[in-house]
Amino acid sequence: MIWTSGWKLASAVSNAGGLGLIGSGSMYPDVLREHIQKCKKATDKPFGVNIPMLYPNLEEIIQIIIEEEVKIVFTSAGNPKTYTAYLKEKGITVVHVVSSLKFALKAQNAGVDAVVAEGFEAGGHNGRDETTTLALIPMVKDEIRIPLIAAGGIATGAAMFAVMALGADGVQIGSRFVASDEASSHIDFKHMVVDAKEGDTHLTLKELAPVRLLKNKFYQDVSALYSKGPTIDELKNILGRARAKRGMFEGDLDEGELEIGQVSGLIHDIKPAAVIIKDLIEEYIATKNRMQHLSI
Ligand code: NDP
Ligand code: NDP
Repeated sequence: MIWTSGWKLASAVSNAGGLGLIGSGSMYPDVLREHIQKCKKATDKPFGVNIPMLYPNLEEIIQIIIEEEVKIVFTSAGNPKTYTAYLKEKGITVVHVVSSLKFALKAQNAGVDAVVAEGFEAGGHNGRDETTTLALIPMVKDEIRIPLIAAGGIATGAAMFAVMALGADGVQIGSRFVASDEASSHIDFKHMVVDAKEGDTHLTLKELAPVRLLKNKFYQDVSALYSKGPTIDELKNILGRARAKRGMFEGDLDEGELEIGQVSGLIHDIKPAAVIIKDLIEEYIATKNRMQHLSI
């Protein structure tokens, strides 16, 4: 959700009854501070900050979180041992995002309060093992004692119901909120998400950091390079720098990196975050009722 989940989306989600998260991966420290302060003004409900641990100014980001008295942190893409104890000492709830059972156990051992288990369907950075949400959630549920939040492929109330049936205690939803009025991503990217069909995304660049993205011109260029058996340096060169910003924030749909989940094929409109949440809950309840009336 880099370049997408700023204070406007996070506060709108929190105001509508979800837990809004500011995606700090794309924010310089001062920009993050600004987003936290604006979010506090825009909602009196809880919200959190997601920190990819690959981020260059990690230490500075952690200090801002503490100074600004953020209560909830979601860490991802790194070792949960590094900051969990420190953040918890400061009274912060820590949730870690994982893509496999092995990492879920590692996160539990590190003392996190909950894990997000995110399957192969998810957009953006993803695990190497390609475990789907349907397989991952029950496997993690069997082995961990802490609350489990499911992610990857969830954009409807029916999907929410399905992962809760598999053992999840809650859900984390990204892609559906890209196509929201409040998302800070470029309007042309939002329209491309709405137009996306089944099969329009692919998990690629596994030798660098595996990432699921839309099959635009940049993706076709990467695929053409793969057909020649590229070196790691050639892959790094073609990716270059700031591709995600170029695509998702600046709206360069040809040359930018457009990160989104498989479930984009099920997203057909751009609407306010509060309407997305209302629709999700209504669909969840309708699905629950449908299941109750299912005769076996
Ligand atoms: P916008 O880019 O939409 O607008 C900037 C904000 O600055 C406005 O919300 C407004 O705040 C204030 N502002 C605008 N024009 C002026 C002005 N002429 N004088 C004084 N203040 C002004 O940003 P966001 O609020 O959504 O984001 C703030 C910053 O974060 C921007 O620098 C933006 O580029 C960046 N950003 C980064 C993201 C990322 O992922 N890295 C995602 C989204 C934004 P107000 O309405 O409160 O007065
Ligand atoms: P690149 O190395 O290609 O470019 C860095 C981008 O991040 C630039 O657009 C830059 O903005 C912005 N940025 C924000 N803060 C900093 C900083 N302190 N130092 C340098 N650049 C900064 O990275 P990506 O765009 O691929 O990824 C950016 C971040 O997002 C990384 O931390 C990465 O781990 C994370 N990420 C997380 C994903 C997820 O799914 N969790 C998916 C993809 C990325 P500018 O151009 O204005 O200088």
